[in-house]
Amino acid sequence: MKRKADVVIIGGGVNGVATAYALAKAGLDVVVLEKNYLSSGATGKCGAGIRQQWSTAENTELAIRSVQMFEHLSSDLGMDIEFRQGGYLIINHSEKELRQSEENVEMQKRLGLNVRLLDISEILSIVPVLDLKGIKAVGATFCPTDGHANPFLTTFAYANAARKHGATISTHTTVTGIKTKDQHVTSVKTSKGTIHTSWVVDAAGVYSKDIAKMVGIKTPNKPYRKEVLATERLQSMFEAMVISFTDGIYFSQQQEGQIVGGIPIPHEQIGLYKTPTFSFLRHMSQTLTRYVPLLRHVNMLRHWTGFYDVTPDARPILGEDRTVKGFIHCHGFSGHGFMLSPMVSKLLTEYIAYEKTSPILDRLNLDRFEGSNLTQEHSVVG
Ligand SMILES: Cc1cc2nc3c(=O)[nH]c(=O)nc-3n(C[C@H](O)[C@H](O)[C@H](O)COP(=O)(O)OP(=O)(O)OC[C@H]3O[C@@H](n4cnc5c(N)ncnc54)[C@H](O)[C@@H]3O)c2cc1C
Repeated sequence: MKRKADVVIIGGGVNGVATAYALAKAGLDVVVLEKNYLSSGATGKCGAGIRQQWSTAENTELAIRSVQMFEHLSSDLGMDIEFRQGGYLIINHSEKELRQSEENVEMQKRLGLNVRLLDISEILSIVPVLDLKGIKAVGATFCPTDGHANPFLTTFAYANAARKHGATISTHTTVTGIKTKDQHVTSVKTSKGTIHTSWVVDAAGVYSKDIAKMVGIKTPNKPYRKEVLATERLQSMFEAMVISFTDGIYFSQQQEGQIVGGIPIPHEQIGLYKTPTFSFLRHMSQTLTRYVPLLRHVNMLRHWTGFYDVTPDARPILGEDRTVKGFIHCHGFSGHGFMLSPMVSKLLTEYIAYEKTSPILDRLNLDRFEGSNLTQEHSVVG
C-alpha cells in the first residue's frame, strides 16, 4: 500500500470516488480507502433518483449543476451509467402543499430550472396509471429533466476513470485513526498501514461521524434506516418518478420494467438496525396500490435496507473543518447524496486543488449548526 498521498479519501461510495476522479484529473496524488467493496454503503442501496426540485436554494443549485454534469457523464467517464431523464412528478395533497410548491417553483425557476405546476387534469398525461381520487391529489409539480442513473455503474465508472488518472483505490482497507499536528491533518492509520497526507476527505456516509470523532470533531448526523422494494418486471407504464411529501412514498418504473420504491417505516427508531421488516412491506404495498391500483396483483421480488445519513436541516455538510485544517467534510447527505455527487466532487476539488471556495461550501459548512437559524430543507421523502 502507498505510504504517502496528496489526498486520502475515506469511503468508496459515489461521493468518495467522484471526488477521487476530479482530484486525480486535476493532477493530485489520491488514495481512496474503502473498508468493504465499492458502493457497499448507501450508494449500493439507493433509489438513485436525480431530482432538482428542492425547497432550499443550495440543494436546488447543487442538483441543477449536477444534472448538467450527469448529461455528459457517460461520455466523460467512458462508460454508460444508464442516465435517463423521465422527470419527477411531485404530488400535492393540500392547499398548504400547493402554496409551498408555488414558492419552491418560483425559486427553482429563478435558478434556471425548467419546472412547472400542474393542475389535476394534467397529472394523468405524465403518469396515466395513478388513482388521483384514491390519493386525494389536488395538483403537482413536474420537472422533465429530473431522472435516474444506475448507482453501481456510476460508482464503477468514476472509480475506473479515477484509476486512469493515477488514483489508487484500496478496498477492504479500514481507517482506524487520523493523526494531526497543530490542528492540521498529518496521517491516516489503516488496517494495512499508515499513509502520510495533509488532506483527508471524510466521505464515509453513515460512518462519517466516527471518522470525524477520530480528530475530535462532533457532527450532528444520525442514521435513519430505509427500506426499498422491487417488483417483478412489467410492461412499460410510465417514465417519471412519482413522489409525495405527505405520504413519504417514492416510486418509479425502471427501464427493465420493475417498480422500485420506498416509504418511511412506521414507528421507526434511529439506529443501525439492518433487518428488513414486514411492517415496511405492508405499509409500502398498501400505499403503492392506493397510488396505482393496477399493481394489486403484482409480485414483489426483492426488498432491502440501507441508511440515510441525516443532518438536522436535511442538507449535506461540506468543506474544510474550521478547527482541523486539511479535514474535509463530505457527508450528511440526508437521502440525496447520489444526485449531488457530480457537483459536490467538483466544488471540493476546486477548494483542495485550487484553493477556490464557493458560497455553497460556505453555507453548508459544519459551523452552521452552531447558530440557531437553520434553513430547513422541506422537500424530503422516504
Ligand atoms: C434506501 C435509500 C434510497 C436512496 N435514494 C436516493 C435517491 O433516490 N437519490 C439520491 O440522490 N440519493 C439517495 N439515497 C442517498 C444516497 O444513497 C447517499 O446519499 C449516497 O449514496 C451517499 O454516498 P457516499 O459516497 O457519500 O456514502 P456511502 O455510499 O455510504 O459510502 C461510504 C463508504 O464509506 C465506507 N467506510 C465507512 N467507514 C469506513 C472506514 N472506517 N474505513 C474505510 N471505509 C469506510 C463504507 O463502507 C461505505 O462504502 C438513498 C439512500 C438509501 C439508503
